[in-house]
Amino acid sequence: MRMPLIAGNWKMNGSLTLIEQFGEAFAAAELSSSVEVALLPPFPYLPAAQAALGATPVVLGAQTLNPAHSGAHTGEVSGRMLKEFGVEYALVGHSERRQLYREADEAVYDRLLAALSADIRPILCVGETLEERDAGRTRDVVLRQVGHVMARLDPQQRTRVTIAYEPVWAIGSGRTATPEQAQEVLAAIREYQAGFDRELAAGLRLLYGGSMNAGNAAELLSQPDIDGGLVGGASLKVDDFIAICQSAG
Ligand code: PEP
Repeated sequence: MRMPLIAGNWKMNGSLTLIEQFGEAFAAAELSSSVEVALLPPFPYLPAAQAALGATPVVLGAQTLNPAHSGAHTGEVSGRMLKEFGVEYALVGHSERRQLYREADEAVYDRLLAALSADIRPILCVGETLEERDAGRTRDVVLRQVGHVMARLDPQQRTRVTIAYEPVWAIGSGRTATPEQAQEVLAAIREYQAGFDRELAAGLRLLYGGSMNAGNAAELLSQPDIDGGLVGGASLKVDDFIAICQSAG
């Protein structure tokens, strides 16, 4: 019922050459039609990615967006602009944005609304730091991040959101959450959502992110509440990324 999504977050990495490689590899890859794949390159690569991946099932995503549609926001990019390049998904609240660019829950909410109003599907990223986990605060932190946004949306808006649980300590560290740890938190997110609407919670797509790779993806994705992955480092290696996509469907 929930179509898995594998989203590759290139962060500030990649090149035009890599875009070309992805285009060729995905054109030749055997992918199940029951898995959705999104690639999120840096902004300048979007037109090239649109051209290179146009004949493949891969859709495009953005790593962030500004809450405004246009105006005096030097250096920023709006949802409307992204939409012109075929962007279908946008990350909001990635832990690197929260930590390095001080985007707190309210800024995340604003960006999520901006994505929705540009007809882009937001992927809301949430997750605890190691300190918070060690202090036994994982559930509180994650549900606060989820609640700050989801509790203020109307039911129609909620159906457009995907949530990615990404423990901060697992991102780029090579230290993956165990399938049980990831499942426990994602089940708690779904249960929280069921408090608003059971049917909507059952259809809510939940991803795991944090050092997912070709070797551990299948086990993570076999968990009942893990509906896909948000993949950083391993999404820069085309063979690994395709292998992850294949283990999802
Ligand atoms: C990410 O950046 O969202 C991520 C999950 O990175 P990595 O896979 O490298 O841990």
